[in-house]
Amino acid sequence: MSDREAESAPCPVCGARAGRTFAPGLWPSLIEEWELSQDEASSIDRREGESCRACGVHLRSMALGSALLRAAGHLGPLEDWVAARPSLKILEINRAGDLTPWLARLPNHRLVQFPDVDLHSLPFADGQWDLVVHSDTLEHVEDPVKALMECRRVLIRDGCLCFTIPIVPGRLTRRRDGMSPSYHGSEQDPLYRVVTEYGADFWASVLQAGFRELRMVVEQWPDALALIASSDDIRSALRPPESDIG
Ligand SMILES: [Zn+2]
Repeated sequence: MSDREAESAPCPVCGARAGRTFAPGLWPSLIEEWELSQDEASSIDRREGESCRACGVHLRSMALGSALLRAAGHLGPLEDWVAARPSLKILEINRAGDLTPWLARLPNHRLVQFPDVDLHSLPFADGQWDLVVHSDTLEHVEDPVKALMECRRVLIRDGCLCFTIPIVPGRLTRRRDGMSPSYHGSEQDPLYRVVTEYGADFWASVLQAGFRELRMVVEQWPDALALIASSDDIRSALRPPESDIG
């Protein structure tokens, strides 16, 4: 999306055409550890630093919001969707970017966080949730395939996992085993140590975990994209009941 388009496009979360503000946030040591080119660093900076002038939601969360709406086949902003679908059961793992205040409007929304909950062993029954959401969490998990399998297990059969991970599209995925520790966030908090740096083959771990469909939703290429994974028809669980259509 060009700057002009970004200025005029409605925010997928609040629906306003208010344009965006930008505050850079990447720091030199992270760029060095990640071995990012200048273009890659600028792209990640926009992902984390651009936000809607009206609601304050950042570009990464706009992408996640767009993925939720795309999965649901809803044409309006997220604000309208959560009002229209009060029965949805949503599990949010760590705060999904800036979307928590919107998702929390749903009565059957639950937010869980590390370290209270282990992503390798979620404390929920099989098929308990319509939707699982997380944002930039998977790269901190020791075994991301196991974590994705757990997300799939707790979803109903045609439920969806909507999530983001930081992806550098011009390279392949690598683990940081044996490399100097790298952290997302200013503190060296072990919870934010990076285990996996995702590249163009990010999709492999999602399908390895047993998901049968994977869609990529681009809010702004290459800065902000989000993923929708499902074991069945991506739209079926989130589609409005027949009585709500038309
Ligand atoms: Zn907005």
